[in-house]
Amino acid sequence: MLKGKTALVTGSTSGIGLGIAKALAAQGANIVLNGFGDVEGPKAEVAALGVQVSYHGADMSKPAEITAMIEHAEATFGGVDILVNNAGIQHVARVENFPIEKWDAIIAINMSSAFHATRLALPGMQAKNWGRIINVASVHGLVGSAEKSAYVAAKHGVVGLTKVTALENATTGVTCNAICPGWVLTPLVQKQVDAKAAAQGISNADATRQLLGEKEPSMQFTTPEELGALAVFFCSPAGDNVRGVAWNMDGGWTAQ
Ligand code: NAD
Repeated sequence: MLKGKTALVTGSTSGIGLGIAKALAAQGANIVLNGFGDVEGPKAEVAALGVQVSYHGADMSKPAEITAMIEHAEATFGGVDILVNNAGIQHVARVENFPIEKWDAIIAINMSSAFHATRLALPGMQAKNWGRIINVASVHGLVGSAEKSAYVAAKHGVVGLTKVTALENATTGVTCNAICPGWVLTPLVQKQVDAKAAAQGISNADATRQLLGEKEPSMQFTTPEELGALAVFFCSPAGDNVRGVAWNMDGGWTAQ
């Protein structure tokens, strides 16, 4: 379905981003990966799906590096047809104790990077009159949780950016939508499970059950594969008139 298209997925060396990159590759899209840590493993996983894969190591907190990444995608594959703004980090602390540098980093990586990548990728999509911008927000783009002020502020911002981008392009073939996952067991969440287990002197399994029990009625993690399937739907012809939604996949978290 996506043969001949190029998808750039930020923060795709791990977790949800890698899951979405693989789901888009399985539909034939060439992939530009981005993110830190091991690159060769994720590259091989995507290449095994029979598509071309490239990598750019832009730090998503740095606008100049985001510009270089979009230019890299244009030089390598002739443009970005599908942009998945996914890179993100977390820090947990009460507002009065929240380190200023963590606030600035979360706002930059989780929110402003989506603005920069979007503004740079849009002209190419508009010229082709086809494009998909998929912002990986969170249930925290819809509701709050204690000790996550920067993350919740950034994710609400991403949902707002999603709506405005969708509206500005509503008469074109360019759509913009957000995905709002509940808990997904990636390194980002494993750290929170480990912290809970250590703080309470409980096992990892008990900490996991507690984490899910507090928020997620299904008592199950959403998977990167499920989120990838939703991204594929947004890219399908059936998604042509899906514009500006914030679609949660959260085991009932926000239904409560
Ligand atoms: P993860 O830690 O597994 O992956 C994060 C990715 O972002 C990695 O590839 C990492 O290298 C990259 N990254 C981090 N900082 C970066 C930077 N400055 N520049 C470029 N890349 C950077 O986490 P994840 O759980 O897969 O999270 C992906 C997205 O999904 C995030 O936006 C997160 O907020 C969101 N999300 C996660 C969950 C969850 O439960 N895991 C739930 C809702 C939303």
